[in-house]
Amino acid sequence: MLDVRKIRLTLELREAGISDSKVLSAIEKIPREIFVPENFRNQSYENIALPIGDDQTISQPYIVALMTQELHIKNTDKILEIGTGSGYQCSILSLLCRRVYTVERIKSLLVKAELIFKKLKLTNIVTKHDDGNLGWKEQIPFDKIIFTAVTEEIPNSFFDHLKEGGILISPVKKDSKQILNKYTKINGSIEIESLSEVIFVPNLTGKKD
Ligand code: SAH
Repeated sequence: MLDVRKIRLTLELREAGISDSKVLSAIEKIPREIFVPENFRNQSYENIALPIGDDQTISQPYIVALMTQELHIKNTDKILEIGTGSGYQCSILSLLCRRVYTVERIKSLLVKAELIFKKLKLTNIVTKHDDGNLGWKEQIPFDKIIFTAVTEEIPNSFFDHLKEGGILISPVKKDSKQILNKYTKINGSIEIESLSEVIFVPNLTGKKD
């Protein structure tokens, strides 16, 4: 059942320019409260990022919606996500595509996210505990790639791992700011579009238990 807070959030997202009905309906279907620690649960449907432990955050709903909308997901798409975190963004993606491959460097977060995927019966998600900057070579190529932690520069190999017509979205550091960039592979070359100024946690190398 849709409660009033959820309806208010959906309205807010529409007003902010999220017009893709598939994205909005995925946001309505996935219960954000189960990704959020108990003490923040009453804020689950506010349009803000929230802490999830280990100094990490669940992204702001508007940014999740914007990134998802800008990926122009088809139901046949195979998607790579770097930074599973709470698993919220991944769950939204999983409703819209064929399969999501998601990588998280912090084991304890990944374990929590995996339990939620099971609970929500999201069977098209494949997880890996690793440094996502290494990519997922066994599964290349991907239709879409999404980074949910801010990086200085996208390793070039990720553009090789993208199919023709594919899209990669990532926050990147630019001077003292963070910009959400969208990279589209057209005739083998990469077109870049800047979508918004954002705030993400950093992309760190190596993995952690
Ligand atoms: N998509 C998440 C956002 C989580 S915040 C959500 O919806 O909740 C970003 C996550 O990226 C953090 O959990 C952080 O541990 C992870 N991360 C940062 N650098 C990484 C890397 N190199 N490889 C894999 N995960 C990384």
